[in-house]
Amino acid sequence: MEKLEHIGIAVKNLEESNRLFAKLLGKPHYKIEEVASEGVRTSFFDVGGVKIELLEATRPDSPIATFIEKKGEGIHHLAFGVSQLETEMKAKSDEGFTLLAQQPKDGADNKRIVFLHPKTTNGVLVEMCEDKK
Ligand code: ZN
Repeated sequence: MEKLEHIGIAVKNLEESNRLFAKLLGKPHYKIEEVASEGVRTSFFDVGGVKIELLEATRPDSPIATFIEKKGEGIHHLAFGVSQLETEMKAKSDEGFTLLAQQPKDGADNKRIVFLHPKTTNGVLVEMCEDKK
């Protein structure tokens, strides 16, 4: 893991939360992006190089909808940037962490991503992400 890349926050209403976080952070979001395959619409804020990713479900079976149903709005995941995603996936798997997918998926913000199961990371959903080349 090379840096804390972003913090993902599950929200019910992206427009309302964009306004709230713009007020909180003192700056507007810099992009909105839908990831249809994951059933989410995201917006991004840059805070000194670490991003805040707001996540809104676009369909009832979206992982974000399930999360909000169970736990309510709030911090959903921490994302760490890596430069060799496949190497990092193998290393983490060998060290006993459970990967939620065996292949990276396309994430928002021009990233390839994979998640580690929270049961192996002290209850924290961890994303590893790599810039698409
Ligand atoms: Zn993320």
